[in-house]
Amino acid sequence: MSLKPPPLKNDCFALPPGVDWTPVDAAKAHLQEHLRAVVAVETVPLMQASGRVLAQDLVAWRSNPPQANTAVDGYGFAADSTGDGDQLLPLVAGRAAAGAPLDRAVPAGMAARVLTGAALPDGVDTVVLDEDCSTDGEKVAFRGPVKPGANTRKAGEDVTEGDRFLDAGRRLTPADMALCAAVGFADLPVYAPLRVAVLSTGDEVIESGHPAGPGQIYDANRPMLLSMIERFGFEPVDMGRVPDNRDALRDRLNDAAGAADVILTSGGASAGDEDHVSALLREAGAMQQWRIALKPGRPLALGLWNGVPVFGLPGNPVAALVCTLVFARPAMGLLSGEGWFEPQGFEVPAGFAKKKKPGRREYLRARIRNGVVEVFKSEGSGRISGLSWAEGLVELPDGAAEIEPGITVQYIPYGSFGL
Ligand code: AMP
Ligand code: MG
Repeated sequence: MSLKPPPLKNDCFALPPGVDWTPVDAAKAHLQEHLRAVVAVETVPLMQASGRVLAQDLVAWRSNPPQANTAVDGYGFAADSTGDGDQLLPLVAGRAAAGAPLDRAVPAGMAARVLTGAALPDGVDTVVLDEDCSTDGEKVAFRGPVKPGANTRKAGEDVTEGDRFLDAGRRLTPADMALCAAVGFADLPVYAPLRVAVLSTGDEVIESGHPAGPGQIYDANRPMLLSMIERFGFEPVDMGRVPDNRDALRDRLNDAAGAADVILTSGGASAGDEDHVSALLREAGAMQQWRIALKPGRPLALGLWNGVPVFGLPGNPVAALVCTLVFARPAMGLLSGEGWFEPQGFEVPAGFAKKKKPGRREYLRARIRNGVVEVFKSEGSGRISGLSWAEGLVELPDGAAEIEPGITVQYIPYGSFGL
């Protein structure tokens, strides 16, 4: 049975009052503190769990390896019945193979034929490699000393029964499938996938591939956001486009709230006459206008619609992408059960010059070539070609900065955001 957690509280997006422009870190800290998983927990077969988010810590049912075994084909014996120099040990009858243990113990001073993966027979703690032995089928000869425990794997040396080996919140990888299977799991407790509705707004926005009239533009944000959601490992829900019409938008938000766990809108999020996303959220009494000290970024509208969190992103594609990566991505990490997500960047010498005023953080479209980070020629927030040219973002600090070529700057590859 799966049980959905209760909805978020109305004030989950309420930033501290009295601050004109909220610093990026303060806004992120607020999200981190107020959001949590909104998706149900379910159990799925191991074979279907790759890419899903683990909902509980996992404790090993069984050790890996479950018993001591040999890592090579060779001859097993007790190390302390051998010594330096030439060794000649009589062989016991039979052999130990993977899945077919030897049916007898090996007395001290004797050896047994063992094949890779076979459980070590009683009396055996050490194995000598085939290539280091000669045998007539009755006895085995090799040169000592052989290090005690050589060529064997200890029981539980990888994972021990009862060990916690994976933590809740982990997005399961192919390697995790091997690990979970090895320690005895056939089913895994995971979170239901986070369903993310994507909705474009604006009278001017039409679907690409259709004839466009004067003043009309093709919807660029929706294909971008839907594919970002997919890359993040969430479930995209395409809610289409809505004109700047309050009733139409209200209906569509109702549909989106019924179909998804979180809603991303683009456009109409400022405080102007045609900014219906913010107007409707305000009407619903759960709207917060976020004025973040961030470039590129216009005000963001955040709120709950029928209990479902809404991220009202700016219409400009560059601002929509940056705001998604900086705010919506980590927020959705929490909502999905994955936990807070901090993209890892690194310091790279700048291949550009720029003077930056204090007061807001800036993200530049960037990529690395020849060991330096270069930035797109224009900072215009409608320049979609720059988003596509870039392979990541340079993050410039909130304070003033004077960047000269060779000075290191913080570069965050798109991949670090999960793209
Ligand atoms: P808005 O945030 O609604 O004021 O829109 C800001 C700018 O982004 C305007 O130039 C819009 O035409 C543009 N815009 C809004 N939505 C989209 C979209 N889905 N695709 C491309 N551009 C858009
Ligand atoms: Mg608009």
